Amino acid sequence: MNPTKRRTVIAGNWKMNFTPDEATAFINELKPMVAGKDNCDIIFCAPYVTIPAAMEAAKGSNIKIGAENVHFEDHGAFTGEVSAKMLRAIGVDTVIVGHSERRQYFGETDETVNKRTKAALAAGMRVILCMGEVKEQRVAGITNEICAMQIKLDLAGVSAEEMKNVIIAYEPVWAIGTGLTATPEQAEEVCALIRGVLAELYGKEVAEATTVQYGGSMNEKNCAELLAKPDVDGGLIGGASLVAAKFTAIVDAAQ
Ligand code: PEP
Repeated sequence: MNPTKRRTVIAGNWKMNFTPDEATAFINELKPMVAGKDNCDIIFCAPYVTIPAAMEAAKGSNIKIGAENVHFEDHGAFTGEVSAKMLRAIGVDTVIVGHSERRQYFGETDETVNKRTKAALAAGMRVILCMGEVKEQRVAGITNEICAMQIKLDLAGVSAEEMKNVIIAYEPVWAIGTGLTATPEQAEEVCALIRGVLAELYGKEVAEATTVQYGGSMNEKNCAELLAKPDVDGGLIGGASLVAAKFTAIVDAAQ
């Protein structure tokens, strides 16, 4: 965490959890627990149908609500998809793109992740771009190559100016929802590598200004050590983002 250079972002990914009523109850419980804790941005990415209720509950607080995915076209014959234009129309300005569950279960590739990223940025949205290696790649010793390649492919055609609206979430796939966490040293190594690739692509100034989160079983117990690393600028949190006390502990560690 290097708050002098860039903004720390603690983001929850609710995945396919929380009905509108459940989200309202959660936000109402959380609001007083994180009030005034302004040393980080707090955002929850919610299922589409839950977004309006969560936004209403979060009004006037330091909690923002985003989406979990976005399509790359504005409109048309893409059953089940939602465009950046539609998200903007209901006031959503942040979206996760390229989450490993989208890549694993819904056929997302670096090409479609890149298209979604560019469409969201063109619509003026902030993108939390997820990337990371699978277990076999880590075991084979090619984590750095895989992560560098993903960053380059996923950001192809994204300008230095647009990078102001990009957050990178380094999420080793083997650590997501598994209870296995990267050690702080492993997280730091890859987050620093990502910053190096960003410097190669966009120059040092952009690299130093870009928030790079860690995600993968971050919780109230391991967050302090992970967030203490200089290139880990926050967290993308799944399971622990569904429990107000756990999420608050992570926000506290980021203060
Ligand atoms: C995630 O969904 O991005 C995530 C990191 O999940 P978890 O914290 O449950 O591993």
